[in-house]
Amino acid sequence: MERIWQQDIKYVAGVGEARARLLERELKICTVGDLLNHYPFRYIDRTRIYPIHEVTDAAQLTYVQIRARVMSIGYAGEGRKKRFTAYAQDATGRVELVWFQGIKWIEKKIEVGREYLIFGRPSFYRGMLQLAHPELETMEQHLSRKAESGMQGIYPSTEKISSSLGTKGFYRLVQNAWALLQGRQIADPLPATMRQQYGLMPLHAAYYNIHFPQSAEELRQAQYRLKFDELLGIQLGIQSRRSERMARQNGFLFPKVGTAFNTFFNEQLPFPLTGAQKRVIKEIRQDTVTGYQMNRLLQGDVGSGKTLVALMSMLLAVDNGFQACLMAPTEILARQHFATITRMLEKIPVRVAILTGSSKAKERREALEGILAGEVDILIGTHALIEDKVQFQNLGFVVIDEQHRFGVEQRARLWTKNQRPPHILVMTATPIPRTLAMTLYGDLDVSVIDELPPGRRPIQTYHYTDSARLRLWGFLKKQIALGRQVYVVYPLIQESEAMDYKDLTDGYEAISRDFPLPDYVTEICHGKMKAADKELSMARFKRGEAHILVATSVIEVGVDVPNATVMVIESAERFGLSQLHQLRGRVGRGGEQSYCILMSGEKLSRESRARLDAMCETTDGFKLAELDLKLRGAGDINGTMQSGMAFDLKIANPTRDVQVLTLTRDAAAEILNQDPTLSLPEHGGLRQLKARYEAEEKIDFSRIS
Ligand code: ADP
Ligand code: MG
Repeated sequence: MERIWQQDIKYVAGVGEARARLLERELKICTVGDLLNHYPFRYIDRTRIYPIHEVTDAAQLTYVQIRARVMSIGYAGEGRKKRFTAYAQDATGRVELVWFQGIKWIEKKIEVGREYLIFGRPSFYRGMLQLAHPELETMEQHLSRKAESGMQGIYPSTEKISSSLGTKGFYRLVQNAWALLQGRQIADPLPATMRQQYGLMPLHAAYYNIHFPQSAEELRQAQYRLKFDELLGIQLGIQSRRSERMARQNGFLFPKVGTAFNTFFNEQLPFPLTGAQKRVIKEIRQDTVTGYQMNRLLQGDVGSGKTLVALMSMLLAVDNGFQACLMAPTEILARQHFATITRMLEKIPVRVAILTGSSKAKERREALEGILAGEVDILIGTHALIEDKVQFQNLGFVVIDEQHRFGVEQRARLWTKNQRPPHILVMTATPIPRTLAMTLYGDLDVSVIDELPPGRRPIQTYHYTDSARLRLWGFLKKQIALGRQVYVVYPLIQESEAMDYKDLTDGYEAISRDFPLPDYVTEICHGKMKAADKELSMARFKRGEAHILVATSVIEVGVDVPNATVMVIESAERFGLSQLHQLRGRVGRGGEQSYCILMSGEKLSRESRARLDAMCETTDGFKLAELDLKLRGAGDINGTMQSGMAFDLKIANPTRDVQVLTLTRDAAAEILNQDPTLSLPEHGGLRQLKARYEAEEKIDFSRIS
């Protein structure tokens, strides 16, 4: 069994060398087991055939199957836009089929006058139903493969895989892989008593039904079983880690509240702390006198004042003779933190240095020598901090700002800089419940800042299309006349995307023309500029010397210009919800009423519309985060959330499966209580589940501290 599971994917019928490479590259599927562990994220009912007139925009169907006769074929468009189209009809209406790729092949295959079973994603163009790249099957072909159950899995895929295999093709591969098992049973890791206690279906049946559901009920049970195993493995891992950490007692002690902290608090603090800020600082203080290593996640919405908490905790470390560092996700943000913190510590004898990828020789040398000699107390920087050359004398406290930009591995490399692990504070604006946070980020405690500094007014958000641009310009001019500043942000999805840069520079030119000097000053800032130039334009904007800053989402995280009151987001439909929320958080930081304007094209997908509507309706980061997960669902394997997770979840969705999460947490506690090292013979399978979690986890905390 084990041997079949490990067998190279290229031996599965229908794969071969080229596809094996494609599967590995696109989906990391290398073995038969990998393929069987790749579960469908949804199922469609292949027995259902829709009359064309029932497929309307309002019906909100993701996939449809129709039976229609091809009436005509032809080409449309030219050059890169050239496409092959076919019109087909049934007794109730017409549908347009379109192909942009593989035109030659489809042209040869399709026959005018023949009836096909057509399967694809519906969209509507000028009121007409359109299917792009549908799958076609003649009625004869369809009847000859009638044997399978009605439900067919749709597998998470990528564009390259879809165009090589299609939904049906992928499904065939899974069938062929399953056939290799030849009736052998997949071993079950859970003791029979446990399966009974939690009402779980055997693992073998679960695998079978997840791929080839025999009924809706069996599918539900299969999903439940696989989620249970996945989350149980993670819980066993996290909980044993936690007991190891708690048994170790090797955390640094910060017993003292000293001069740096007190002077800052009594003399330098620019405003009173909010209740929430005070509470979190207290929690951190309590953690750092226990002798255990702190691993804490600090959640607080954009603008809630996390930086100050970070700074005061670092002062606590410094007062106790330790160094601290603050790692930011971008160069600009690191520079900004450095500027803010240096200014706030002006009158306090604490030395702060900065180190980023583009630090000049002198700055770099000062930082490196300073921290090695113990002369620098606080080091601020980007990823550059995790390079091997960076050697601290005694690093005691690490702050990581906006964790979702850092992989867990990168974080871990900071830990390794010490014999003993420093205390870790991870700050994020993504609000998530604690059990969920642990599932995502491993073993940690959670603090929450659930209060904004006083005097903030909720940002007003509007969604406009291009036709309202003149009105928008008028509005911006009014705001600028009031002395306010404006951000205009363009998406840059891939750094190399020439088109995106063109949009940005075109936008910049248009704005410079419509907002001419000397009345208006417009700055631009994007990733292709030299660090020094970027900094210069940011600095001008920060000092209020520029009215408009045109930028890519490099300003997304953390930039603080309280006088900026308008955030215009161009092509807003291309941003994810959490990114939109982050960007919006760049305004509304002062006492003035602020605005976020979402610009988009006229034609929007249902999902994009839902995102933009949600942004207009609420400023609550928690609600937006939930909706984001719901909209993106488990099918989106490129989800940005994944990259920050400690684990790649295959089937469980920690927000939706809270019940299974709680159940497995308690189950794991009970098992470990009885058998902490999982060494009882009947726990062999559980040991494997836990090991699988450890393999899945992107880092191993236990090797680090
Ligand atoms: P974030 O949590 O998004 O990192 P910041 O730390 O950047 O938020 O703080 C946002 C703004 O709020 C900054 O301008 C900061 O100076 C200000 N701020 C922070 N704490 C307070 C407070 N207690 N009272 C008033 N303003 C505050
Ligand atoms: Mg911040």
